[in-house]
Amino acid sequence: MEVPLFFCPAFVGIVLFRVRHQVSLSNSHHKLRFAAKNRFFLRLENGNPFKSIRGSFRCSNWIENYPTAPSITQIADAKVIYSVAPAMGHNKESHPECNSRVPAIMNALEKMELTPKFRGSEIIELQSLKPATVDDIASVHAKAYVSGLEKVMDQATEKGLIFIDGSGPTYATATTFQESLLAAGAGISLIDSVVAASKVSHSPPVGFALIRPPGHHAVPKGPMGFCVFGNVAIAARYAQRAHGLKRVFIIDFDVHHGNGTNDAFYDDPDIFFLSTHQDGSYPGTGKIDQSGHGAGEGATLNLPLPGGSGDIAMRTVVDEVIVPCAQRFKPDIILVSAGYDGHVLDPLASLQYTTGTYYMLASSIKELAKDLCGGLCVFFLEGGYNLSSLSYSVADSFHAFLGEPTLAADFDNPAILYEEPSNKVKQAIQKIKHIHSL
Ligand SMILES: [Zn+2]
Repeated sequence: MEVPLFFCPAFVGIVLFRVRHQVSLSNSHHKLRFAAKNRFFLRLENGNPFKSIRGSFRCSNWIENYPTAPSITQIADAKVIYSVAPAMGHNKESHPECNSRVPAIMNALEKMELTPKFRGSEIIELQSLKPATVDDIASVHAKAYVSGLEKVMDQATEKGLIFIDGSGPTYATATTFQESLLAAGAGISLIDSVVAASKVSHSPPVGFALIRPPGHHAVPKGPMGFCVFGNVAIAARYAQRAHGLKRVFIIDFDVHHGNGTNDAFYDDPDIFFLSTHQDGSYPGTGKIDQSGHGAGEGATLNLPLPGGSGDIAMRTVVDEVIVPCAQRFKPDIILVSAGYDGHVLDPLASLQYTTGTYYMLASSIKELAKDLCGGLCVFFLEGGYNLSSLSYSVADSFHAFLGEPTLAADFDNPAILYEEPSNKVKQAIQKIKHIHSL
């Protein structure tokens, strides 16, 4: 039985969940969960992950806030800085958004020698992760949602697994609340890192938050579509509040519309949200004429692309839509909802991006950030459900950040691609350029 989640404004904080039992997990699964949980909980600086306090942040706070992290100079010398929050306890057997996703990426990075072990100072893994605070989360989400989710963790512990939103569906386990705070916090820590590095270097490293659960479908009042907290939206508000980075440009190239981010900033002129997604795919929002409201009119750009769109379409979109739009907006920082489910091999949709497409996106966005906002740029993992195409595409994005050639040809198979719907793509691009006067 699928289960909707109800938030009733008349009973603030009261959340009704319909619940179902999860089948028991295998022994090997338990072992993996145990190992991973210990790995990242050991990284926390104090015993209680909910006690960390974040306020406005200055470079002089760096050692105080991140006592075990590399120095600002070391970070400034790096080309990539990433954080890892795999949410190993947040898992459901046979669900596409499962706990194998981040370990698959880590294995690919290791195999392709893209970790600090192989690259020395070029690549840094930020290990001093702090969970986001409830106040961080409440900068985007209703407090009733946050407290309601925390309260039902007892129920999730008792039952093993509950459903907190019928679409997707979105599930929760005993650790979902804590692990979702850690995912959002892992993104925030990267904002602190790249901003601190930018104070001493003109080319700070690109940040990549290898986190889950993903965030871009989570709406201000609740979870949705596999997503619990809006990681990228929370980071955008944090960048404004803690670092005075007023103008935030968010690029969302996940195959699905980032409706949660869209809704959070729909009337905000200072946060530009640009989403490309497959026309007609989940959740059905993000129509081409949805471009913001009130003061935020024009600061949302939704570009639905026809099924079958691929590398040629996305290259044109970058040149004719993303780049001119960002140039006109003049951001202080660029954040990216990096979903890899537009890959031709991904099971959840039918676009035809390749590993090479993701290399191109990573390379172009890095250059854009360099040109427009001192290189300030952080990627946030969203979707991507074929573990091979997901992990190779993230790894090849790292190659782009390092300024190294793509190795996409080792993975991509042109023989499986078919002709892109070029006329329909052209029409969509012409229409969006007309709507946004590009
Ligand atoms: Zn997606």
